[in-house]
Amino acid sequence: NGLKKYFDIKGGVFGRKVGEVKAVDDVSFKVMKGEIVGIVGESGCGKSTTGKSILRLIEPTEGEVKFEDKDITNLSFEEMRKLRKDMQIIFQDPYASLNPRHTVEKIVGEPLLVHGMNSADDRKKKVRELLEVVGLREYHASRYPHQFSGGQRQRIGIARALANNPKMIICDEPVSALDVSVQSQILNLMEELRTEFNLTYVFIAHDLSVVKHISDRVGVMYLGRMVEMTTKEKLFEDPKHPYTQALMSAVPVPDPDAKKERVILQGDVPSPSNPPSGCAFHTRCPRVMDVCKEVRPEFREIEDEHYVACHLYE
Ligand code: SF4
Ligand code: MG
Repeated sequence: NGLKKYFDIKGGVFGRKVGEVKAVDDVSFKVMKGEIVGIVGESGCGKSTTGKSILRLIEPTEGEVKFEDKDITNLSFEEMRKLRKDMQIIFQDPYASLNPRHTVEKIVGEPLLVHGMNSADDRKKKVRELLEVVGLREYHASRYPHQFSGGQRQRIGIARALANNPKMIICDEPVSALDVSVQSQILNLMEELRTEFNLTYVFIAHDLSVVKHISDRVGVMYLGRMVEMTTKEKLFEDPKHPYTQALMSAVPVPDPDAKKERVILQGDVPSPSNPPSGCAFHTRCPRVMDVCKEVRPEFREIEDEHYVACHLYE
């Protein structure tokens, strides 16, 4: 709720603060239990920072994070550590997040140990169960990360995230680094696991086709702000925000007869250290009006469960 994360830019000989990057700038949304909420946007839009702030792997500058109605924004490190049992994260690059000198046994067993499973035999048994759940084999336990393919490594990352029966998993571009054929295997696995373990996901991606596959609801971010959020069906059938419309029109349509006007965005994404005034999208918006340059549009519910931040709908 009202989540902000500003990073200082330091410069000069004395390393003084010379500016700030508004990586996340007043973002609010809810995720219901059992739901998969996709968050999509170009790189640098603040989607990963949002995900990491929810887990407090990054400390928010302002705003509030609630988990099961409990305000967790100011929990101590120790309290937060306990809560991480329930809230996990899977990263984009499983290789970078897996210790190359540890066996799979140790990697997947580590969170079990941290959260009190002291018996090595119990851990061994549980690790094998987890490997099976993610489609790996028992003998994989004694191997090292470099002995696996990208997709298999992501399975190891998922097994580790599942170790303590979490309630929610932040998935930070978990398939972006994988080949397309492997992507769908991992997405299917994650969907099955959601049902099997009653999980809730926040699923971050830069690719609309990925969130379309897996999400119940989707939020679109641009320059640190949430610009549109609604059900997957509404977003894909009736996108309201000009930025969402532009993203959609960039997705190839399987039906060549489908009438779709291509909206080509002008220019690059502006720097988040110096975002445009008013609506941050106004420098690239094909429907920009005078008011857009001055006044920041509020993120509002314009129809049932459809939130948009754009002056066109006020
Ligand atoms: Fe475009 Fe204005 Fe809407 Fe921003 S507020 S998306 S500039 S029409
Ligand atoms: Mg990212």
